Amino acid sequence: MRHKKTKLHSLVAVGILGIIVLSVFIFGSDPVISTNEAIPDSRVIAQTAYPGVDIVTEIHDERMYYIAIHYPTFKDESLNEQMCKYVSSSKKIFFDEVAQKKKYLNELPASLYILFDIHPVTQDVYSIVFHVESYVMGANGAQSSKVFIVDVNENATIQQTEILVDNEQNRNKLYTLLLNEFEESKEYKPFFFKEELKKWIEDENNRFSHMFIRDHSIVFKFDKYVVTAGAAGSPEISIPLEKLKELLTDEWQKRLNLIEVDSKMDEPNTPPTAEEDLKGSESPGKRQVALTFDDGPHEINTLKILELLDKHNAKATFFMLGNRVDFYPGIAKEISKRGHELGNHTWNHKNLKALNEEEIDKEIQMTSDAIREATEKEPTVFRPPYGGINNQVYNATSLPLVLWTVDTKDWKTRNARKVLNEVKNNVEDGSIVLMHDIHSATVEAVDLVLQYLEAEDYECITVSELNIE
Ligand code: ZN
Repeated sequence: MRHKKTKLHSLVAVGILGIIVLSVFIFGSDPVISTNEAIPDSRVIAQTAYPGVDIVTEIHDERMYYIAIHYPTFKDESLNEQMCKYVSSSKKIFFDEVAQKKKYLNELPASLYILFDIHPVTQDVYSIVFHVESYVMGANGAQSSKVFIVDVNENATIQQTEILVDNEQNRNKLYTLLLNEFEESKEYKPFFFKEELKKWIEDENNRFSHMFIRDHSIVFKFDKYVVTAGAAGSPEISIPLEKLKELLTDEWQKRLNLIEVDSKMDEPNTPPTAEEDLKGSESPGKRQVALTFDDGPHEINTLKILELLDKHNAKATFFMLGNRVDFYPGIAKEISKRGHELGNHTWNHKNLKALNEEEIDKEIQMTSDAIREATEKEPTVFRPPYGGINNQVYNATSLPLVLWTVDTKDWKTRNARKVLNEVKNNVEDGSIVLMHDIHSATVEAVDLVLQYLEAEDYECITVSELNIE
């Protein structure tokens, strides 16, 4: 709960939420504001209709300025720090300007408004959109905005590039979509600068940080003057999620329910699963199950799962995405070091059924290369994203193609108990269980699942071991 007192005094102010009287020394270091001026006249925390989110309201009513600030507060302190850091930096900009223009402010006090909107995205995720408006002399106020996408279950903010796959192809598509929207908008068209949008989309530093999700659409918010003349204000372009679906990461297509993973594959195209191979050759010994983890490696959750597997002497198979291996080679190496099986799950989780032969080949090859580079081992099995198979996919690699027999739906429920129940209700000797090592709820689930399987006298082995039996 303790913060460094020398820095970010406002941050401290919120760090001790609930304490109404703030000590004078907290604000003593500020060069601009006197102690009296920094203490809000009122500071209220109110509940919202959104679970896990409350609102802090701070009012400062002074001779030279008026400030009204609203910002969300969460159970998690690191999230609160991010909000406060932003609020205090906005305040600082304002106070610096107030200090500069102090002598003019007796007649017309300056004002600062920090407001925010909150839009639920999924059960645990909210788009928090700040709007800051300040007037310090002069009629034209300054406006700015800031977006936080907050996961109150994971206690983390989500970067926009975790949602949107940022590559050249997608930027081009996005440019076309945004261009259409601007040109069709009566409101913005007269003020719109096409070249500025082009510059914006081509800017390497563009992290789409003003993008957020609202009402089943992705909203691109532009600060004043970025792609339009001042008269257009801060334009917001809203594009339905369905139109942008293919630009989103697999995880987010799933989280936004844009894709239903079909656990019952079309029979004609489905190669025999390990389970079917196994039928008739069951040994009288221990029952066996292959746990499989897709879409990783994840910098935290995969490591936690590795610990749990070790604890229970269990082996598993990790179907990794090439681009994530590229990001986290150390974790891929750890998976390999601990004796688990390495699986290829393509480079960035495209539906291979929509690609041509050359593209499919590239998806698989690049991933095998990344795995080899990270682990000094070859992947030994392949699983296509979404279990999407046609003859072309089937023939694209010599690696054995592996689907699953038990879909835990962990990506959807994000609930360890529910995942455990899926396993309990469906697991049998020879099952291949599908999970995703990128979710924290799955980490909890793995703990429960491993305990259950151990109690039921199951042995956890890799997919290939299951095949050989
Ligand atoms: Zn996947």
